[in-house]
Amino acid sequence: MVDARHPHAPAPAPSPEGRESEAIALYIHWPFCVSKCPYCDFNSHVRESVDQQAWRDALLRDLAHEAAELPDRQLGSIFFGGGTPSLMPPATVAALIDAAVHHWPAADDIEITLEANPSSVEAARFADLAQAGINRVSLGLQALDDRVLGWLGRAHGVAEGLAALDTAQAHFGRVSFDLIYARPGQTPEAWATELGRALSFGTEHLSLYQLTIEPGTQFATRVAKGEFEPLDPDAGAELFEQTRAATAASGLAAYEVSNHARPGAESRHNLTYWRYGNYAGIGPGAHGRRDGRATVRRRKPENWLTRVQASGHGIEREDDLPPRARAQEALLMGLRLTEGVDLSRIAAISGLAIDQLVDLAAADRLALQGLLIRDGNRLTVSDAGMLLLDAILAEIVAA
Ligand code: SF4
Repeated sequence: MVDARHPHAPAPAPSPEGRESEAIALYIHWPFCVSKCPYCDFNSHVRESVDQQAWRDALLRDLAHEAAELPDRQLGSIFFGGGTPSLMPPATVAALIDAAVHHWPAADDIEITLEANPSSVEAARFADLAQAGINRVSLGLQALDDRVLGWLGRAHGVAEGLAALDTAQAHFGRVSFDLIYARPGQTPEAWATELGRALSFGTEHLSLYQLTIEPGTQFATRVAKGEFEPLDPDAGAELFEQTRAATAASGLAAYEVSNHARPGAESRHNLTYWRYGNYAGIGPGAHGRRDGRATVRRRKPENWLTRVQASGHGIEREDDLPPRARAQEALLMGLRLTEGVDLSRIAAISGLAIDQLVDLAAADRLALQGLLIRDGNRLTVSDAGMLLLDAILAEIVAA
């Protein structure tokens, strides 16, 4: 079973220099949550209080640093992730958006997404967040069953979550929400009912993640103690196929392993990652890619803040990625997409020849088995192959 948790027209194949004319993406990490969910391995932390002025100033400084490192670009998207960025003061969100579009001219149709938890407290801020410039919201609904939401440690119930979804649809032009499936004991019949209900809400985008037990989480400890067993991988695979069929039948076909959208309503921000475009990442633990240079910021909130206050940026490491590493990253990200990858583009980005990127004999063998599709320089994982994505990548991506 693939790990479904991780970030249609094929992109043109630019030269390495041509990448500079592609719009960049900006990720802003807000690391705080009200409580820690037992399945969560994200960089999220519970703190009694947050010095809002200090955090706002530091994020603005970290942003200015990235802007200086990536000059003369257009900004195609901004994504506020976390953590729980819907807990950010809307004035801080507005200040960051204003600064970002001051540093980089914004595309006319810039996409500005904020992840939000669907509690009544946060829904009450949606009008102010829309006013601040947010035009797309991704809601962490996670389940449509109160018992399951309690088990997942979520602070909201179904009624509260759906009320927040209504409020979001009233305030934002574009709305997505997340559900977690392949939960212990979940049957195809139960998932069909829950997914059918989710599809009836009329959002343009859905993120549907299989529950995975991540090391270091509370769920990992409980599984080790024998308190519950994860769903059997074969049962998970059946639910994955069922999910693909139901979303496609409703006009929200999968465009990535876990993401489904109406045509044209895909997350442009996440497409930048999957198509291996340039993105700046600011805030604790954020990653970035600037023309083959990888950046990662200090992970612990207090350490990141201290670093920014001392140095004007929160960077922990900054490395030039060698050609093979660039190629591997581009393949690992791009083959998650239904559109697949253009090998000539990855060759241009990495400076390697196409037969150095992938094991073409292995790719042809997998194509004969119906798991891959090779059309000229375009390589795509078939629907059947998506269930075996990790194994396919291990077989074809040249080490
Ligand atoms: S709200 Fe999201 S980021 Fe925060 S602990 Fe729960 S899953 Fe993790």
